[in-house]
Amino acid sequence: MIKLKTADEIEAMREAGRVSAKALRKTGELVRPGISTLDLDRFAENLIRMEGGVPAFLGYGGFRGSICSSLNDQVVHGIPSKEVVLQEGDIISIDTGAIIGGWVGDNAATFAVGEIDPATARLLEVTERCMWDGVEAARMGNRLGDIGFAVQSRAERAGFGVVREYVGHGIGHDMHEDPNVPNFGRKGQGIRLKKGMVLAIEPMINLGSPQTRGPFDDQWTVYTADGTPSAHFERTVAITEDGPLVLTAE
Ligand code: MG
Repeated sequence: MIKLKTADEIEAMREAGRVSAKALRKTGELVRPGISTLDLDRFAENLIRMEGGVPAFLGYGGFRGSICSSLNDQVVHGIPSKEVVLQEGDIISIDTGAIIGGWVGDNAATFAVGEIDPATARLLEVTERCMWDGVEAARMGNRLGDIGFAVQSRAERAGFGVVREYVGHGIGHDMHEDPNVPNFGRKGQGIRLKKGMVLAIEPMINLGSPQTRGPFDDQWTVYTADGTPSAHFERTVAITEDGPLVLTAE
């Protein structure tokens, strides 16, 4: 069941969104060779709590981190660890979420660690643009498939693989609400988008094939099947009469 939000509820969600966005931006600023993903996690958790929030991912389904930190060929849901130390040339996807006043914010971005190779740099650029195309399509009167179509067409035009097994989602009091928001689809298909829907739009795009593998022993980390890098960008967006409103913004 899709839970539509009132204007007041959307307003309240902006605070969770603001803190989620601040945590993502400030944690991203720490990305550099030599820092561990556990250091990033601790920093993000502290920031979220200082802002009056609770990390949305900590304890979610038993997840042990406050952020997801997914390196190189890891697609999503990487677990922060002091053993994972960033190196020049890596990419790292960071996903941060905060709960404030019972509302959840969720956003993600992939960062370059120092200098990265040009093909991977293009993957990051295209994936972020795919996300904004998806956000643009999140409008009253459009259909769910229009979001997926927007994301997929840009990604595939660039020759990249669109992950199918993991998708965006509705969000509100719960981090994952209906509907699922695939990053692939057909124009004009799927449910009609309505005022008051709040969606986490989050393309996961692979440099190579769209297939994934895992999770394995750690029960969480998802990898690309072919070992190529993967990028992930996400915003929480409300559908309003005035168009898409990004809630994970400072
Ligand atoms: Mg999400």
